[in-house]
Amino acid sequence: MLLSGSVSPMTYSQFGVSCCIRRVASLSPFLPQPPLRYAVLGAGFAGLSVAWHLLKLSSEELKLNIDIYDEAGIGGGASGVSGGLLHPYSPKAKLLWQGAECWKECLKLLNVAETAVSSNQFNTGTGKSDMSFGNFIVRRRGILRPATNIKTLSIMNDNAQNCLASCRIDTIDNDAAQNLVPNLCVPFNLAYYMPEAVNVHPQRYLQALFLACQNLAKSAGKQFRLHRKCVHELLELEGEYDAVVVCLGAKVDMLPELAGKLPLRTCRGVIAHLELPDNIREDYPDYSPSILSDAWLAIQGNRSLYMGSTWEWKSRNSSPTVLEDEASMALHELLPKASAFFPGIKHWRFTGARAGLRAMPPLTPNGSLPILGCVNDLVGVNHSCKYWLFGGLGSRGLLYHGWLGKLTAIAVLSCNEDLIPYELTSWKNINKL
Ligand SMILES: Cc1cc2nc3c(=O)[nH]c(=O)nc-3n(C[C@H](O)[C@H](O)[C@H](O)COP(=O)(O)OP(=O)(O)OC[C@H]3O[C@@H](n4cnc5c(N)ncnc54)[C@H](O)[C@@H]3O)c2cc1C
Repeated sequence: MLLSGSVSPMTYSQFGVSCCIRRVASLSPFLPQPPLRYAVLGAGFAGLSVAWHLLKLSSEELKLNIDIYDEAGIGGGASGVSGGLLHPYSPKAKLLWQGAECWKECLKLLNVAETAVSSNQFNTGTGKSDMSFGNFIVRRRGILRPATNIKTLSIMNDNAQNCLASCRIDTIDNDAAQNLVPNLCVPFNLAYYMPEAVNVHPQRYLQALFLACQNLAKSAGKQFRLHRKCVHELLELEGEYDAVVVCLGAKVDMLPELAGKLPLRTCRGVIAHLELPDNIREDYPDYSPSILSDAWLAIQGNRSLYMGSTWEWKSRNSSPTVLEDEASMALHELLPKASAFFPGIKHWRFTGARAGLRAMPPLTPNGSLPILGCVNDLVGVNHSCKYWLFGGLGSRGLLYHGWLGKLTAIAVLSCNEDLIPYELTSWKNINKL
C-alpha cells in the first residue's frame, strides 16, 4: 500500500485507487527496497502543493526521495508576485467548477503552512522564527467587491444566492460598505462582502509551506531537497527518477519536449506597491478588508498595500523586474480604476513594482481549468520514467493549487491518471484532434 491511510476512504472509492507502482510491487518484501525518487520541477504554488501531498499521502513504510528544482528559488515565478487574493467565486461565471473542494483544500494548506511556522517558533524556544516570516501569512479580514457594472452585479447576485457556507457572500449597501472601508465609493449602492475570504502573503506562505515539507519529510524518514537549478530539458533527468512532475508555470513551454504542445497562453501582470506617507494621519483601518474591482487592492497593513493588476497578453517576459516605463504605464492604467472605488488612493505613494507571467489555460464548458495528467505521450514513449504535468493555473493559482496538487500527488503515487477528474485531463484529447 503506497498511499497513506491519511487519505480518507472516500477519496479512494471516489476515484477507484489501484496501487500499481511498478518497482515496489515487483520487489520481494524481504529485500531492502530502494527509495522511490520523484522530481518536482518548480517551487511555486503548484510544485510545493504537489511536494507536500506526495510526502503526506505516501505510506509510512515507503522510502521516498523528493527533489524539487527551481531556477529562481522558492516563489521565484508568478506565485511569488501574485496578489494573494483568495475566494472561491468567479467574476465571470455563476459557479466555479468544484469551487467548494478547491476552497476546502486550499484552506487546509494555508493552515499547514501557518502551523509549520508557529511550531518552528515554539521549537526554537525563543518565540521567534529563525526564518524571516515578518507579519502575516494569511490576512483574515475578508474581501469586498463593490458592484461596478450590471454584469458583475448579476453574477455576484447569483453567487451570493448559491454561496458556500464556508465562504458567505453578504450583500450590503453603501453605509455598510463604508463602515468596512471608510470613504469607499459604491456606485450602485450595492457591494458584496465575503467575510471569510482572505489575502495571503505569497512569499511568506511559500516559505512556510516549504518548511512544512521539510518538517514532514524529517519526521517521516523521507528525503526532501531543493535544488536551485535550471532544468533545460526533461532528458537531463532521464534515468534519475521514477516520476517527474512538471510545475513550471508559464515557462513550461521552454522545455523542448513540451514546447508548442500545450494549450496555454501567457499573460504578464504588473503589481504596484503603495505606502501612505508619514504626513497622512488617517491610515487604513486594521479591520478593513481587501478590495476587488476593475483593479484590486491587497491590503498588507495600515500603511501598505499592493494594487493590481495589468494584463499583457502573449508576453513572454517572465522577469519580476519592472522597469520605469512599464511601471509608469501600469500606474497610469491602475490608479484611475482604483480611485473610482477608493478615492483615498491619491494619498498613497508608489514605492515599487513587480511582475509575473501567468499561464492561462484553455476555456472549456466548465470554465478555464488548469491542465493536469501524464504527458509521456507528448514527451515520447520510450521513457523509463513517468512524466506528469500540473499547469495552467491562470489567475486563480491559489484557489486551485491545494486540491489539484493533491489529485496530482494521488495519481503519481498510484501511477494512475484515471484518478484525476476527466475535466482536468480532457485537454489531451482536444490536443490529439
Ligand atoms: C500579477 C499577478 C497577480 C496574481 N494575483 C493572483 C491572486 O491574487 N490570486 C491568485 O490565486 N492568483 C493570482 N495570480 C496567479 C498565480 O500567481 C498563478 O496562478 C500561480 O502563481 C501559478 O503557479 P505555478 O506554481 O503554476 O507557477 P509559478 O509560480 O510561475 O512557478 C513556476 C516555478 O518554476 C520555476 N521555473 C520555471 N522554469 C524553470 C526551469 N526551466 N528550471 C527550473 N525552474 C524553473 C520558476 O522559477 C517558478 O518558481 C496572479 C498572477 C500574476 C502574474
